[in-house]
Amino acid sequence: MSEFVQGKTKGGGAWTPKFVSDLNQKACIGCGRCFKVCPQGVLNMIGITEDGDIVDAQDDDAEKKVMSIANGDACIGCQSCSKVCGKSCFTHAPLAA
Ligand code: SF4
Ligand code: SF4
Repeated sequence: MSEFVQGKTKGGGAWTPKFVSDLNQKACIGCGRCFKVCPQGVLNMIGITEDGDIVDAQDDDAEKKVMSIANGDACIGCQSCSKVCGKSCFTHAPLAA
């Protein structure tokens, strides 16, 4: 038996979900690709001011926009976010069973 949470493919094969565990906001360019592909609403764009404060992405004080993990508990470990991220921002890990 696996030490990690296991899923199954349609054909019954073993599949180990790799859940999102970190997002490197220093590398993120705020392109929004990961947001579009995530089927679970895990990710959300935020704004960062010149002073480093976190604000709404639409806020006039936002100097740059970066992605954030807003609802990590909803992640199903599909890794779609990593597949579309051109900046390798995501870290994933299986979950201990
Ligand atoms: S692994 Fe899948 S469900 Fe989890 S944040 Fe990435 S795209 Fe969303
Ligand atoms: S795909 Fe990568 S670079 Fe683009 S917003 Fe998501 S984490 Fe940032």
